[in-house]
Amino acid sequence: MTLMPDTRQILDQDAHLIQSFADLDALKAQGARTVISKAKGAHVWDSDGNKMIDGIGGLWCVNIGHGRDEMIEAIAGQLRELDYYSTFYNFTHPKAAALAEKIAQLSPGHLNKVFFSNSGSVANDSAIRMLHHYNIRKGRPEKRQVLSRIGAYHGSTYLAMAMTQPSNSVGWTSAADGLVHHLRSPHFWREGGEMSEAEFLDALILDLETSIDRIGAGNICAFIAEPIQGAGGVITAPAGYHRRAWEVCQANDIKYVADEVVTAFGRLGHMFASQDVFGMTPDIINTAKGLTSGYQPLAATIVSDEIHDVISAPDGYFLHGLTYSGHPAAAAAALTNIEIMEREQIPERVRTTGAYFEKRLRELSDIELVGEVRGSHFMMGIEFVKDRATKESHPDAAQVGPKVARACQKRGLIARPLGNVLILSPTLIMDEPMIDEIAGILRDAITEVAAGL
Ligand code: PMP
Repeated sequence: MTLMPDTRQILDQDAHLIQSFADLDALKAQGARTVISKAKGAHVWDSDGNKMIDGIGGLWCVNIGHGRDEMIEAIAGQLRELDYYSTFYNFTHPKAAALAEKIAQLSPGHLNKVFFSNSGSVANDSAIRMLHHYNIRKGRPEKRQVLSRIGAYHGSTYLAMAMTQPSNSVGWTSAADGLVHHLRSPHFWREGGEMSEAEFLDALILDLETSIDRIGAGNICAFIAEPIQGAGGVITAPAGYHRRAWEVCQANDIKYVADEVVTAFGRLGHMFASQDVFGMTPDIINTAKGLTSGYQPLAATIVSDEIHDVISAPDGYFLHGLTYSGHPAAAAAALTNIEIMEREQIPERVRTTGAYFEKRLRELSDIELVGEVRGSHFMMGIEFVKDRATKESHPDAAQVGPKVARACQKRGLIARPLGNVLILSPTLIMDEPMIDEIAGILRDAITEVAAGL
């Protein structure tokens, strides 16, 4: 592989950079890293000038597409007006206030109060800290443990990683162990065994109920769940699961925390998925990514009036905050991003284009290597198997996911391998011809890899 001189220089500099979620040793090899140097709309270019469809929307975040002048102007204009001020103590600023109000209007029901941070991980940590604070204020400090699920990804800060399962780092243990309990995976195809989907759903709810009985509802502050598990391999739960889990939480005075870091802001065809797709209103929704479409780092922990009433009662102090909570440039980016989504009716369009994307990807199930195609709209995963009848996986060493991803990249499509699963989460501005192009590349790439195994 010959590299352009610029690329060689960038890679020399890059030897100082520690990549995230990567085999750092493998990245030392020539050609292992891709330098993305330009982006526009649904496409990115590498530093050698190769144009590719961004099939993962950055990191399932660039919802409105790359390089929008309106976004750049909004951010630059804000920096000229007020580059930085905090939301600490008694301070606030116009864009943080306007964005908090906008999010309160868009989010379901009683979710009217917003705490800003700068990443989904911190939004999730903040939700739990807030609930600890809430329960301390209610005179029950022992109500602090958290129910999460196998296959969850809630982030990479210490607590968020403890809520993630499996931990992404071999041999990792957390000081938060004992605080977090992981319930059964909701993945019917892998975990359902001989059960029908309805029986599997009952088993999942029973697992939630018996876990609450074992730990004691008086010791549990929260149940945290992604509407669709993302980094765990795009796992959708059986229909009705979230609603029933929420009912169990309600009955046990446990707060339901929806991690909508990926699913909010259009990816499933709605601004928020919890109510519009899954029929329930959580006590807290955490979101990030699509909130600014990745143009600026920003996350929001959106809490119910009732939680806020307790943490803002007299004679208390909310001991939590981040320097960049509600950063003016990030808040300006989010406001313009939401304006674009509303004006162009992006969530509404996704209900059609995303359904078409899902349909075209599901057609790939006829390839022998494909075990399951799953997900919804612009949040899809393709799992590869060695044996379709037994669902046996290829060993990690076979590198099936990475091989398919490389075969896609060679053909002009960036997709993300996660073990034996390939993730597709493109920008939400895909039209049918572009979706057809993605489906065609995937078919060719998977077929090529299958033939070489
Ligand atoms: N929750 C979910 C569901 C996510 O997918 C992610 C990131 N992929 C996070 C939390 C963490 O977000 P961040 O990387 O912005 O901290």
